[in-house]
Amino acid sequence: MLRHGFRIGRILAISIDLDYSWFPILGSLAWLLATNYYPAQFQDWGLAECWVMRIVTAFMLFVCVLIHELGHSMVARRFGLSVPRITLFIPSRPRRVRTG
Ligand SMILES: [Zn+2]
Repeated sequence: MLRHGFRIGRILAISIDLDYSWFPILGSLAWLLATNYYPAQFQDWGLAECWVMRIVTAFMLFVCVLIHELGHSMVARRFGLSVPRITLFIPSRPRRVRTG
């Protein structure tokens, strides 16, 4: 059980976990698209179309990031590293990277 999120499934024997920090970002992106970008760019779209497309766009962002991270995982495995899980999250502050 994750402390700050939940498991959404397994792909290629890698647990895919989602941190709760994803939701404010996806919600903000979807809201901005539905209320600003799509109405400005597609003026013949109705309100319902804009809101459907915001959900589709937010979901596709999620899928693209997941595929990107799976790519990292496949390279790591190729070089002999174990990848038990991928946790998708939005960092709340800069992270220190330990080197050596
Ligand atoms: Zn990357």
